[in-house]
Amino acid sequence: MDDRQGQILQALCSITREVGAKNSLETAMATLVERIRQTTLADCCSLYLCDELRQRYRLVATDGLAPSAVGKASLSYGQGLVGVVGATRELLDLADAPSHPNFKYLPDVGEDEYKSFLGVPVINQGELLGVLVIQSRQQRQFGQTEESFLVTLSAQIASIIAASQAEKKDSDMNLKRYKGAKATGHLAIAKALVWQPSVSLDEVKLLHSDDPLMQQELFHQTIFQMQVQMDKAALEMQENDKGQAASGYIASYGKMLDDTALQDEVDARILEEGLFASSAIKKVLSAKMAMAKEDGDEELYQELKDFAQILVSRLVHASNRDFDFNEQVILVVESLPAAMLAELPREKIVGFVVTSFNTTSHATILARDLGIPSVFGVELDPQEVDGRVLVVNGCEAEVLLDPPQSVIDEFEQLINQDREQADLFYKERNLESVTLDGVPVAVQLNAGMNHDEAEHICDMVDGVGLYRTEIAFMLTQSFPSEAQQIEWYKEILGDYKGKSVCMRTLDVGSDKGLPYLPCQEVNPALGWRGIRVSMDQPQIMMTQLKAMLSANIEYGNLEIMIPMASRLDEVLFARDCIQKARSEIESATGVSVPDVRFGVMVEVPSLVYMLDDVAPYVDFFSIGSNDLVQYLLAVDRANTKVSRFYDDFHPAVVRCLSYLASRAKELDKPITVCGELASSPLGVMLLISLGFDRVSMNYSGISRIKYIIRRLCHSELIELGQKAVTLHDCTQIRNLYNKYAKDHGLSRILDVADGF
Ligand code: PEP
Ligand code: MG
Repeated sequence: MDDRQGQILQALCSITREVGAKNSLETAMATLVERIRQTTLADCCSLYLCDELRQRYRLVATDGLAPSAVGKASLSYGQGLVGVVGATRELLDLADAPSHPNFKYLPDVGEDEYKSFLGVPVINQGELLGVLVIQSRQQRQFGQTEESFLVTLSAQIASIIAASQAEKKDSDMNLKRYKGAKATGHLAIAKALVWQPSVSLDEVKLLHSDDPLMQQELFHQTIFQMQVQMDKAALEMQENDKGQAASGYIASYGKMLDDTALQDEVDARILEEGLFASSAIKKVLSAKMAMAKEDGDEELYQELKDFAQILVSRLVHASNRDFDFNEQVILVVESLPAAMLAELPREKIVGFVVTSFNTTSHATILARDLGIPSVFGVELDPQEVDGRVLVVNGCEAEVLLDPPQSVIDEFEQLINQDREQADLFYKERNLESVTLDGVPVAVQLNAGMNHDEAEHICDMVDGVGLYRTEIAFMLTQSFPSEAQQIEWYKEILGDYKGKSVCMRTLDVGSDKGLPYLPCQEVNPALGWRGIRVSMDQPQIMMTQLKAMLSANIEYGNLEIMIPMASRLDEVLFARDCIQKARSEIESATGVSVPDVRFGVMVEVPSLVYMLDDVAPYVDFFSIGSNDLVQYLLAVDRANTKVSRFYDDFHPAVVRCLSYLASRAKELDKPITVCGELASSPLGVMLLISLGFDRVSMNYSGISRIKYIIRRLCHSELIELGQKAVTLHDCTQIRNLYNKYAKDHGLSRILDVADGF
């Protein structure tokens, strides 16, 4: 044994003793990393422990990285070199760590000065607890002595860590996690308030009454009271921030309440069969529900069920004081019936947990529109969670029940961080969107609902880059009339008067179904959607175009674009339809209809290669990156099983975007990016670096992205873009932009934006 080995063996014993003697895990770990760094003569030693809850490795102790990163910096399982060590459960000894394809640059931890990396897994009784790492500035491999020292030490400390974690787990025992099918928004913590109809339809028995006339009177009184309530609610919706989603909701209930044929059927059951009003309602609506089920129309089934439950509840209890509560809550519901909306105190509801799941359900749309953190399709027992603390994690589609205080503290810290940053961005919301070196980048709005705050949003944006018309269609019970559509379109054109509003023709199909246009397909994403539907149903397209053009007569700020185009004939068809709609309006009214700018969405890869063919017939292009990435990488954007393969920083995506930006410039056509990529901090850096100068996004991303743009240097980013297109790996490309963000003081924004 040489001297060095002897020293190390001695150190091994004393470190294990010292660490074991500490009574808190934190101080034990701090001692551990300090002593290892001294013994190995490394420049840095860090310990990452598995955080099962979030599926991440969290930095719990370091001697060499930024102390402020302890407890905060983390890597998801599978990310970075720590991820490699964890996944393989083998040591990794590298002289030049940054050149490893899995190297992940962690912003703000001060890791950039280190070159070499030696990581060993920490395993106790077959269970991986974390990864222990030493690093040095010098580019050298640590070698066998250090390797065996670290391996031996990690085996010894594993049992100390496991024992200490087991203690902590005892206090976390009550925690339960529920996975949902879909989610929206960020985080919320509050007590659960379970809402259920006061009388369940299942409980209603088919009983006979002695006084059918009185039952009939009761039924009609209830209908009348609900109609009055709905009218009041609809009015309130228009006046407050619940906007169009809510009024669509109300409209669908209103329709059922006004359905005289349905009322006649219930009357007949009461008068002819002598049933109680509630029994008659159950009989009539159950039959309709059964039909909807048979037709596979889940949406209609749920609406009829909600309607029946509310009617029956109102019949039994004259009043319904469901939302008489003082504190903020997370509302847990099977579905969200329209009748509840009138009473929902928006400011008291911080999250939704919905136990049923339907992508097109009103609750999904409403929650997304209102920006309320929500998880859908959560299989939990409402009675079990009522009144208990829930964490709604919209980033992970997860609900936590009764989390321990330590977990609550962490989530609260994240929520506060989110809030602080939002305030910072909001202060600059109306400032110009221009880079440090004076290059303007247009930031537009993706709209789908009319927000009451339109006036204030209008000052923040350079117009509307995408108006998703299908959202309004999803909230009606049948195809909306031309007059109804004119009203909708006038509202948004008027709200953004003087700025362009780009309306997309109906983009239904795939995950955006209409209850009244059922379509069952094995592979809907590659099926009947977007412009394909419009070509097969030209009357729908014509009605919509006429409504858009008519609404625009007063404002003159309309642009029209088509979704999902994959061929030239689709572009020509849409262009012809616009001209036809224009002349039809002119000959019917004698009023001159302003011409509109016409564009096409680039979201099917075939169109990327047809840019030159299409260019003579369009005024602009708009990239739907959500779909373009899904089709380019063959990854269903809604399938969680393959979501790890969906990557905007895939070299093929980056090169494709780069080509689109430069070719559109050569063709002298403006090009916008209106997919989610534009609203992510790294995404917008990537886009600017590839030559884009127009982005469009949901309201929630606007002030943050403007804040970031104002801190970027255009010429530096262009250089970065030139490098990015030469790289071969998603991580390498992403690291390029992560590093840039860090150098420009933007890494904290990435932390919050990327969740945890
Ligand atoms: C897109 O595909 O990026 C897009 C904006 O359209 P949607 O998300 O509505 O399909
Ligand atoms: Mg799309």
